[in-house]
Amino acid sequence: MTTRINREATVPAHAAAVVDLLNSRAYADLADKLDTAESAAEILRPFGQQDGVPAQQRLDLVRAVRSDLLDLMDARDTSDAAGNWAAFTGRTTSITFQQDFSTPGQVGLRQVTGDPVVGRIIEDVATLITAGNWSRLRFCANEVCRAVFYDTTRSRTRRWHSYEYCGNRTNVAAYRARNAGCDGTSTA
Ligand SMILES: [Zn+2]
Repeated sequence: MTTRINREATVPAHAAAVVDLLNSRAYADLADKLDTAESAAEILRPFGQQDGVPAQQRLDLVRAVRSDLLDLMDARDTSDAAGNWAAFTGRTTSITFQQDFSTPGQVGLRQVTGDPVVGRIIEDVATLITAGNWSRLRFCANEVCRAVFYDTTRSRTRRWHSYEYCGNRTNVAAYRARNAGCDGTSTA
C-alpha cells in the first residue's frame, strides 16, 4: 500500500467545532477540557457560548452528547450504530426546532426549546449527516493518539490526524518492522 501526503483541504467551521468538541475529552495524556471553566467556554464558543463559566447543567448535557458521539464513531461499522443513533435521539429530546418562515423568501430552523448551545451542537451534527460528511470524522490510527480529525480527502482514506506527527512515527515503526532481520524488500 502506498501512502500519499494529501494536501489538507479546508475543514468547514461547523466540522472543526465538532472535532474540537470530540477532542475535548481526556485522551492520550490530555485532560478533559470541559473540566476547566476557561477551556470549556473556549470549546463551546463556536456553538454560541458567551464568555464566562458554562452552567453545570449545560456541561452535563454536553458531556453526555460528546460521549454519545464518540460511541457512534466507534459503532459506525457495526449493527450497534442504529441503537446508538436511537439513544442519541432520546438524549436530545429536550431540544426542538421549528421551521421559521418569518423572513420572506427564506426559511430556517429556529430552536424552540432546550439548551441553545447543545442545540447548535445538534444542528452541526445534523449538517454533517445530511451532507454525507459524518463518516469524515475519524480517529487517528496512531493507537497512542486517537485524536479525532475531519478527513477532507476525496477518497476518505486519511489515517492520521497529523501526517507529520503521527504518520511519520507509524511509518518509521513499519519500516523498522519490515526491515528487521530480512533483506529489506522495497515497497516503494
Ligand atoms: Zn494522531
